[in-house]
Amino acid sequence: MGDRWAERQADMFGIVRRPNQLLAELAEAGITRESITDVVLTHLHFDHAGGVMREGDDGLEPVFPEARHWVQERHWEWATNPSERDRASFRADDFSALKDKGKLELVDGPTEIMPEVKVTPISGHTPGQQVVEFHTGKGVVAFVGDLIPFLSQVHIPWIMGFDLNPLLTVTEKKQFLTRAVEDNFTLVFEHDHLHEAATVKFENGKFQPDLVFTLDDPPGMGKE
Ligand SMILES: [Zn+2]
Repeated sequence: MGDRWAERQADMFGIVRRPNQLLAELAEAGITRESITDVVLTHLHFDHAGGVMREGDDGLEPVFPEARHWVQERHWEWATNPSERDRASFRADDFSALKDKGKLELVDGPTEIMPEVKVTPISGHTPGQQVVEFHTGKGVVAFVGDLIPFLSQVHIPWIMGFDLNPLLTVTEKKQFLTRAVEDNFTLVFEHDHLHEAATVKFENGKFQPDLVFTLDDPPGMGKE
């Protein structure tokens, strides 16, 4: 979500984080922001793209100045001209400057954007959201964005109230989870403050979590 939040908004959304948390964590791993070559965005809702830009000396600047930022073309078109239903989920300042600065890479459909990194569009939540898969030598890790934001939503009928096309989400989840079971994907949940990741199995006619990775030190949830 980044750091560009007024106190009132941070309070409203229950944002509990250190300032510059992402950069601090990268620094701990010995990674500088200038060395990041690619940022892959599942979609441009503010809770997934709010950290793309930061306040610099001359106004907003990309947090990762050298990086290409990958978005599905269909989603870019939607995000820059959203419907009344989901307009409040986008802040144009989060992403509009990427295009002018030449840092935007639009892709159309399933794409291997670089060796071992694949994106697949999933449109029930918002047109052109993309799941990001890392096909490593040790298996596949998938960032599932708002297709499966929480561990509990591995259960097919449980989906987000924000989804613009809920029945499409149901179909897409089944297709995706079928692949995830076959190839033993590890799914990373971007909204779950207790469960970081899990593999899935199909048992008794249901998709279910299998091996679950919980957070050692879960963050608080802000105001209860
Ligand atoms: Zn979203």
